[in-house]
Amino acid sequence: MSLAENIRKVQDHIAAAAREVGRDPGEITLVAATKVQTSETIREAIAAGITVCGENRVQEMTAHLADNAYEGAALHFIGHLQTNKVKFVVGRVNLIESVGSEHLLEAIEAQAAKLGMVQDILLEVNVGGEASKSGVAPEELPALARRAVELEHVRLRGLMAIPPAARLPGENRPFFAEMKQLFIDIKSKIDDNGPVIDYLSMGMSGDYMDAVREGATLVRVGTALFGPRPPMGKTP
Ligand SMILES: *Cc1c(COP(=O)(O)O)cnc(C)c1O
Repeated sequence: MSLAENIRKVQDHIAAAAREVGRDPGEITLVAATKVQTSETIREAIAAGITVCGENRVQEMTAHLADNAYEGAALHFIGHLQTNKVKFVVGRVNLIESVGSEHLLEAIEAQAAKLGMVQDILLEVNVGGEASKSGVAPEELPALARRAVELEHVRLRGLMAIPPAARLPGENRPFFAEMKQLFIDIKSKIDDNGPVIDYLSMGMSGDYMDAVREGATLVRVGTALFGPRPPMGKTP
């Protein structure tokens, strides 16, 4: 199948999952996870209807930006971000989805202040409680969210999660439901203070329909659009 056909298929699945639970499919945005893809493939995806690209490697993103590969789409940073690379990301992306610590939050604030701009962010929640994953623990989320709201140069827009790799279909649905509840809680605590908490980013190739059923507004899909990636570390 061609990239354009894959995009249409994933969009159809998103719409079907949304309708199943009485949601408007227009509430959900497909984010194309473009890691390891070439600038040419990224342009092709945008021409075929992709409106948001998600990158998780600073170096690749910087090269694609120099190529103008994302023209016509918004850009989200979705990967693990080291504080020493914050300067390459702040101000260059519409949304940093993967802010999982106060340390990173403060580094983004400092860089955005330096640039005189406000950076939109999501807080990444370690919903599966995995030691290997970044993200704030659910118990620590309210405090981190309060801190984010205090900062002048970041704007908290919602939450993101990468649940454990599912071995069985439907396995991650409880994590998505938990994320929806955390999202509602944070929204109720924070929305009346001004900022709009409107993004809940969850769901990847194997489980995005369940994520939509549980309330995702952003789904980040790579493999189902572009095909399998080479194993990690084997990429040029
Ligand atoms: C690669 C990636 C995805 C997409 O994963 P697929 O399983 O290929 O759909 C989603 N989110 C993040 C943070 C990623 O790094």
